[in-house]
Amino acid sequence: MLGKMMYQPLLISSLIEHAARYHGDTAVLSKEVDGQITHSDWLTISNNSKRLANALASLGLKSSERIATLAWNNRRHLEAWYAISGSGMICHTINPRLFPEQLSYIINDADDRVLFFDVTFLPLILAIKDQIDNIKHFICLGARENKVLEQLPEVLFFDELLADHSTDFEWPQFDETTASSLCYTSGTTGNPKGILYTHRSSVLHAIALSMPDISALSAKDVLLPVVPMFHVNAWGTPYAAALTGCSLILPGPNLDGDSLVSLIDDYKVTVALGVPTIWQSLLTAAKARGSKLESMTRTIVGGAACPPSVIKTFREDFDCDAIHGWGMTETSPLGTMNQIKAKHKSLSKDEINELRKSQGRPPYGVEIRLMDTDQPLEPVEEDGVSQGRLQIRGHWIINDYYNHNPDAITEDGWFDTGDIATIDSDGYMNIRDRSKDLIKSGGEWISSVELENIAAAHPQITMAAAIAAAHKKWGERPVLIVVKEQNSELTEAQVLAFYEEKIASWQIPDKVIFVESILLNGAGKMVKKDLRDEYGDVLLSA
Ligand code: AMP
Repeated sequence: MLGKMMYQPLLISSLIEHAARYHGDTAVLSKEVDGQITHSDWLTISNNSKRLANALASLGLKSSERIATLAWNNRRHLEAWYAISGSGMICHTINPRLFPEQLSYIINDADDRVLFFDVTFLPLILAIKDQIDNIKHFICLGARENKVLEQLPEVLFFDELLADHSTDFEWPQFDETTASSLCYTSGTTGNPKGILYTHRSSVLHAIALSMPDISALSAKDVLLPVVPMFHVNAWGTPYAAALTGCSLILPGPNLDGDSLVSLIDDYKVTVALGVPTIWQSLLTAAKARGSKLESMTRTIVGGAACPPSVIKTFREDFDCDAIHGWGMTETSPLGTMNQIKAKHKSLSKDEINELRKSQGRPPYGVEIRLMDTDQPLEPVEEDGVSQGRLQIRGHWIINDYYNHNPDAITEDGWFDTGDIATIDSDGYMNIRDRSKDLIKSGGEWISSVELENIAAAHPQITMAAAIAAAHKKWGERPVLIVVKEQNSELTEAQVLAFYEEKIASWQIPDKVIFVESILLNGAGKMVKKDLRDEYGDVLLSA
């Protein structure tokens, strides 16, 4: 027998409708491409997304067509998101830091019809325009600019489209499993693969993201998503922001520490999300300026392993809780988040600090498990020590890649993450490595994450990557690539000495190489593949 309760499909349009109706005057601030801050609110964002939905319909676009965006975190991008998905089209956010060949590859693979872009990316578009014939309309996210028109005569301007259309628009109702948005993985090996989210998965994910043991987002918060809207939909924060009716600060193109400290202090940000490299530069800038980041109560750190030193500095020097989480493009991204349980309250401060280094436990809605690295059908014990391949399933986890065959779903319906982890009896998961980044020395695994975390705690090291270098005797040995603080005289011997007593001596890197900088990808993560290509043979010539 079916129950007798109303059924309403979980649609992304319902989020913006809610925000407009119950939080209409709550501020949405946006740093624009020209550096200006514009003040808006949820009602205006909603009205503009309706105007744009009318504009898209007038261009003859139909549901399920892919509409691409190449843009920073700003209000027009947000309005485009709600207009596209709300109308039943698919919002394809593109990482502008991909190589031009990758950009044209994914625009063709997705078969995008429209490309919204911030003026910053005009040169990129002009460079690939001949390879993307499927794009029928280019829409510049701004007011009319002659210099854009001269270079791209067919361009339409976002502000003119809004001015020409009314707010009179009813969001269509459709099946909640309809595709809503599309993101491609960074594709460090092979071509990037598309992940196609549904309305249902996005709304459920937004609810989970807001829960107390995840980010505890509420209408009292001022949220700063530093993670780009093209990196797993800014981790779902623009949806969760509308759902909770919190105030939103969209940081635009300048994500350097100094600009972020200004935004946080000027607009009293209470919660921010981003990758560890962002927070490292924020902490350096805050210290240099004497800012205590007073309004911040918490920051969510994920996307790459967060060095414990960063977590500690946030908590002890800034009285701001740093919450470590784990996720992937394929998992929307929320997989786990590190929050304590009631039974942990009696632990000492040191014990709690230790517990909170890991990537945490899954919220309701996803489950995780470990499987043997050599025998894929054998489960690994969840004792906090045994390592295995991390697998996940749940309401917002990928089932199949867009345009590709499922190559990562196990026969019993789990997604294999490619990460190597431990899980303890309380469900706390600890990422040991990406399977491809693990260093196998004489048959024993060395975690590059652990080596990098130790290096990150050194006061004169700005950034460090541990890679596997080929070795005649041991197969592979760790090599540490280091960017030192400016004017530092740090030597290789001093770096190696810093590892003593912290890990077993056979795990200490064989070599330290100092470099000026380490390339970061569009999501702010170190591109370790390039480092392996460049330095993978250094120990062979030694
Ligand atoms: P992406 O889909 O590009 O966001 O990359 C997902 C991958 O980033 C995961 O499979 C992990 O290897 C890594 N990752 C994400 N969050 C963390 C974390 N907190 N600690 C360690 N690795 C992480």
